[in-house]
Amino acid sequence: MSTQVILVDKVVMNKIITHYQASKVNRNVPGVIFAAKTTDAAITAYKSGKVLFQGHGADREAERWGQLSTAKKPEQKKTKGDVLPQNFAQLSVLGSDETGTGDFFGPVTVAACYIPAHKLELIRELGVKDSKSLTDDVMRKIAPDLKATLKYSVLTLDNVKYNEIQALGNSQGKIKALLHNQALKHVLRKMEGEKPDYILVDQFAERAVYYNYLKEEPIIIRENLLLATKAEGLHLAVAAASIIARVAFLEEMDKLSEIAGIQLPKGAGKKVDETAARILLKNGETTLKNLTKWHFANTNKAKMIAQRK
Ligand code: MG
Repeated sequence: MSTQVILVDKVVMNKIITHYQASKVNRNVPGVIFAAKTTDAAITAYKSGKVLFQGHGADREAERWGQLSTAKKPEQKKTKGDVLPQNFAQLSVLGSDETGTGDFFGPVTVAACYIPAHKLELIRELGVKDSKSLTDDVMRKIAPDLKATLKYSVLTLDNVKYNEIQALGNSQGKIKALLHNQALKHVLRKMEGEKPDYILVDQFAERAVYYNYLKEEPIIIRENLLLATKAEGLHLAVAAASIIARVAFLEEMDKLSEIAGIQLPKGAGKKVDETAARILLKNGETTLKNLTKWHFANTNKAKMIAQRK
């Protein structure tokens, strides 16, 4: 879907309102002075003089009224990767995303889930949106509904296994690729022959690199697979996968915190180093190792802090 924003003066604004009067729709939103819906474009006019055109006819309609403005386009985020079809957000998509890769404590989790087009509205109503704008608590509430509604797979690579695989020389990129491929495979199996229009993976590596990581796998998911960054904003399937992965991460963190006897912090910052040092002093190296991604720089920082105490 194309989006255009133009900035107009009062005279042009009045012309626009007159022109689209027959297609007028009621839009009770602060700042909106007029809205219309034609066969292929939605027009929204704001008090500020901005007029937003959305839909297949957006470019054509916007051009009638003036120069296409350089004003920031709303709801469009810069993403890199494959070019998606125009109506991508409305298609039946199998999406996948991971979490935990930047956290010293806790696992790496990857989830994939399939949203057929007819369920998109329902999923939106459950509160799924770009997961970057949702809090952990909200995600914990939404995740069970998603799991009950959608075909999904979620994989939790615990720290013991992660450290083993990493020590064998596997990069985080490769670990992620293997998990994404496996989660996608599981969901496709559950779909029993039904095919998604597309598969969208939240991109962490170039396509050639991604497939190179998978070259020894017996089954490699390739058909209609697209890669794009910030994909949780491109289709609800990735947003939902991201929520499911995040909640799996949080649940594992709850368990690990109980084992450690202390609330484990997320991320890889100073607080993480200090908590790690406390665990090192209290429970020893093996315990700490089993709670963390041992190859992170935090390990040495924690050892240094512990030595000073
Ligand atoms: Mg991601």
